[in-house]
Amino acid sequence: MKRLLKIIHSLIPLLLILPTLSLAAQHKVIRVVDGDTIVVDYKGKNEKVRLLCVNTPESVHPDKKQNIPMGKVASNHAKDRLKGKYVDLEFEGPKRGKYGRLLAYVFVDEVNFNLELVREGLSPYYTKYGLSQKYDKEFREAEQYARNHNLNIWGDPELTQKYLRLKSKWGQYKSKVGSPATVQKKEWKYVASKKSNVFHRPDCKWVKKISTNNLVGFKSREEAIRSGRRPCKSCRP
Ligand SMILES: [Zn+2]
Repeated sequence: MKRLLKIIHSLIPLLLILPTLSLAAQHKVIRVVDGDTIVVDYKGKNEKVRLLCVNTPESVHPDKKQNIPMGKVASNHAKDRLKGKYVDLEFEGPKRGKYGRLLAYVFVDEVNFNLELVREGLSPYYTKYGLSQKYDKEFREAEQYARNHNLNIWGDPELTQKYLRLKSKWGQYKSKVGSPATVQKKEWKYVASKKSNVFHRPDCKWVKKISTNNLVGFKSREEAIRSGRRPCKSCRP
């Protein structure tokens, strides 16, 4: 009896991790298309997944001039890491893009593969369609790491120039939609535009339209009212 108890006792840690194991990766990777696109078995259907917040150099573009050796490096990296594996998908915002592809963060062995691509210098932090809502800080750090270590793209002067140019273009978009990140960082309770006499809750839809340069914040409702502003009718702060 004592021995049996001992055996049961030794099984407890295993029983505790079983629920975690059953939550483990759900979707089989059917094919790696290129560095930032894969096909997975999603609810019984083969579905294309475009990885969020990354854009690796091209390797299988129909316009062959766009395909560059670094694209092949990124594609091979994705194949090494993902081929035949089971992965998890994490969505953010709209689940599908304009071509019907799933837009997701891909987790392999519990590692965020999107972030890994940026940390390896195989992709810039791609903000053309907005900042990452869940991992903005991590993406910035990953890119800084890759640049500091001259990894892949950032070890090639020509590619570095190209991506810095692109990044400054995406930056215009970034400053528009970057407001929520700024608000979070400054711990503002209410916000407004310098150019308007209305104040909002930080999550109001109108806040996203305020450019970062024009954004002002308040630590309290009283402070917002003292500034001469009235509450927004849509978010009713
Ligand atoms: Zn509002």
